[in-house]
Amino acid sequence: MFKKIVIANRGEIALRILRACREMGIKTVAIHSEADKDLKHVLLADESVCIGPNPSTESYLNIPAVISAAEVTDAEAIHPGYGFLSENADFAERVEQSGFTFIGPRSESIRMMGDKVSAIAAMKKANVPCVPGSDGELGEDIHVNLEMAQKIGYPLIIKASGGGGGRGMRVVRNEENLAESIAMTKAEAAAAFGNDSVYMEKYLENPRHIEIQVIADEHGHAIHLGERDCSMQRRHQKVLEEAPAPGITEKMRADIGNRCAQACMTMGYHGAGTFEFLYENGEFYFIEMNTRLQVEHPVTELVTGIDLVREQICVAAGLPLSYKQEDVVISGHAIECRINAEDPKNFMPSPGTITFYHMPGGPGIRVDSHLYNGYKVPPYYDSMIGKLIAYGNQRDISIARMCTALDEMIIQGIKTNIPLHKDIVQDPAFIEGGSNIHYLEKKLGL
Ligand code: ADP
Repeated sequence: MFKKIVIANRGEIALRILRACREMGIKTVAIHSEADKDLKHVLLADESVCIGPNPSTESYLNIPAVISAAEVTDAEAIHPGYGFLSENADFAERVEQSGFTFIGPRSESIRMMGDKVSAIAAMKKANVPCVPGSDGELGEDIHVNLEMAQKIGYPLIIKASGGGGGRGMRVVRNEENLAESIAMTKAEAAAAFGNDSVYMEKYLENPRHIEIQVIADEHGHAIHLGERDCSMQRRHQKVLEEAPAPGITEKMRADIGNRCAQACMTMGYHGAGTFEFLYENGEFYFIEMNTRLQVEHPVTELVTGIDLVREQICVAAGLPLSYKQEDVVISGHAIECRINAEDPKNFMPSPGTITFYHMPGGPGIRVDSHLYNGYKVPPYYDSMIGKLIAYGNQRDISIARMCTALDEMIIQGIKTNIPLHKDIVQDPAFIEGGSNIHYLEKKLGL
């Protein structure tokens, strides 16, 4: 096992990784920007290194600075968390070349999944169901594209191969708009991602977002840990997640989950990962794979009892998975609310000093947050300041616990989206379960 790990992230996920390391007897190095010297995990870590000024491009995204921090502290491995450099294949490669272990998949896997066209091709080969589409980059010939579009059927969505964060996509409802939509998406993709490759896919009108968590080791074993429903979204950003997904039977879970685990073995994937699907009329359609730990991993941890960060660290150290597929039992229900420092009405970020902080507790409540009384939320980074997670042996119990916990939670000095979550968890359609990805925006009148 590693003796010392660099945590190449900030906020709640850095604290989550630090806690896992402490439990495992691994020493930690916190790296941080100038503004982040008072982050909770920085104060708790065995060592800390300031790697640069506040803009993330000069600190958390600065590859040489992150690797130097591992060198000067004599660490053995780097955990990238999520966001920042976590899905940067060049970073993973540079980490390995510098003699450290990247806690995540091989750089080739990250690169393959980072390009959506090659990811879809790999999935098709591995027998994972995909959205009907162009199966490759679109060429210049508009007649060929029109014919392909006709075959797939409108509405369609044109997507950038290198896209991410919900950007680089355009819906086309009829053939008159096809040529122009392709050209515009290409131009945007070139500007935003430095890659003008685009492809087309059937546009699903009212899908749910359901994803499968996997973890694989370097010895050819891969397992799935069931699914999460992340359909409550605003601007393609997840707001609230739950596991298991309402209405997904054990048979459906086993079928799609086993295909994902099998795909990991076919691809030689190791580490944690998530296969994201759109789910409509009883069918799963692959859209992308995330080659890292996800924000919403705690709901899976609560319903499986498996510590994903510990498993990630173990498989990165070359150990075999501690679980076989038959050891994974989904029990009970968990919901996660992402707590953001933002105005609950207009969603404007709300950085500032926390003047009073009180966290909820009681049976089934987990709080993953780096906040404390007097902590100053900086304006430079993502507005998520924590996650409130509620578990119960049944879905209605986890909802009731979440309602109680949201009422107990007090964060003063800044605005948060706690009122929005209170509204969602009391919403009849949410209580019913199974809303599609457009539900929240419609409810908010957006
Ligand atoms: P990103 O990498 O930018 O997150 P994704 O491929 O994961 O892109 O898609 C983001 C979101 O865009 C999905 O969650 C869904 O809301 C919408 N979307 C993507 N592809 C389709 C599709 N074929 N039909 C309908 N909606 C889609």
